[in-house]
Amino acid sequence: MAISKIKNITAREILNSKGEPTVEAKIILSNGLTAKAAVPCGTSTSSFEACDLRDDDSTRFSGRGVLKAVSQVNEVIAPKLLGLKINDQALIDKTLIDLDATPTKKNLGANAILAVSLAAARAAAQDAGEELFYYLAKTHDFPEPKKMPTPLFNIFNGGAHADTGLDFQEFMIIPSLTGIFIKTEMNNKPARPTKRLIQAGAEIFKALGKILKESGFSTEVGLEGGYAPDMDSSIQALEFIMAAIISAGYEPGRDVNLGLDIGSSVLFDRGAKKYVFRLDNALFTNDNLIGLYNEWLKKFPIIYLEDGLDEDEWAAWSELTSELGNKLMIVGDDLFATNLDRLRRGLQEKAANSIIIKPNQIGTLSETIACVKLAQRHNYKVIVSHRSGETNDDFIADLAVAVGADYLKAGSLSRGERVAKYNRLMEIEDLILA
Ligand code: PGA
Ligand code: ZN
Repeated sequence: MAISKIKNITAREILNSKGEPTVEAKIILSNGLTAKAAVPCGTSTSSFEACDLRDDDSTRFSGRGVLKAVSQVNEVIAPKLLGLKINDQALIDKTLIDLDATPTKKNLGANAILAVSLAAARAAAQDAGEELFYYLAKTHDFPEPKKMPTPLFNIFNGGAHADTGLDFQEFMIIPSLTGIFIKTEMNNKPARPTKRLIQAGAEIFKALGKILKESGFSTEVGLEGGYAPDMDSSIQALEFIMAAIISAGYEPGRDVNLGLDIGSSVLFDRGAKKYVFRLDNALFTNDNLIGLYNEWLKKFPIIYLEDGLDEDEWAAWSELTSELGNKLMIVGDDLFATNLDRLRRGLQEKAANSIIIKPNQIGTLSETIACVKLAQRHNYKVIVSHRSGETNDDFIADLAVAVGADYLKAGSLSRGERVAKYNRLMEIEDLILA
């Protein structure tokens, strides 16, 4: 079958789930097929992420417009890529990287570059007549996708993602298939395991809403669709979640475990080298914080701890990993920023044992996949993740399946841009298990 060439590339400014501008790119192939991709953006971003290009024009969207990035696609990127074969993702991404020529992609903007990179992959899958997850796996030398990632549901939002006092950014529930078979399926594997996990997540999310309401708390949601009421302490939030799990008919620690994204970089005072927890009215050193996590592990079924320490406290990360790494996933998000060099340092220093993968932290699909491969070679658990400012683009669901990720983190069981990823995951499961 003849491979199509890139005939046209355009971009436009659209809105993300925070009501802020972002970039959507569209590619038209020589055979007339078209594909689009839109990029997300973070709120509590790492200092080591690739840079989005913003207009800095205060008369529009408080300076957050992306018309410059759009014009980089239309005027600078498109002329360089026209005529390239759509199945040569490596060449497309290399051309984008070379054209930008900065380590942070600040010339063209990571938002401009990633939109084109992802749209190209989607167009190539269509050209091949294949599902995106299947095509990505095949063309990047992953085994044929058979295993589904476990969803991580962020049902309680705090930190930079909500206007409440909660210091911690994310409180997640992690339904466990093994537990749920034992409990509700009488040892019979459910026909569609991912659907069963998503069902459990949704039931617990609803139960939590009911309990919060009955206790007089708000059930408004934060940026990632989790509840965001004013609480007295982080422990109180965890206790509500435990109650919701039980009230939905599941057993904490067997059917459902817990995960936390502390988002601790935003709490860290670099001068004083202390973490400032306003709600809990406490100051913590790295060591104090490791001690606190250890205490919490004794009280709650926590199996996942993301960004437990600041993004540049490497020695403390090594200590955290050596102390708690055999009991739980120590996950680097801001720490690694989906960046090969930072992951290499982490491997050398034995910092963390799991990595968050966010394509827009690095800016091209090829670099994202290189980071996944390095992590997998060293047995790090891989979590493909959304951002707090999302679009309805569900590319990350296909990516997670294609690379055989252990987890997909896409927020709560509410807000269309979050649910879009889980809905695509269920669709993929039907395709794989058909
Ligand atoms: P962000 O949050 O998209 O605001 O960075 C998500 C996360 O920290 O995992
Ligand atoms: Zn995070």
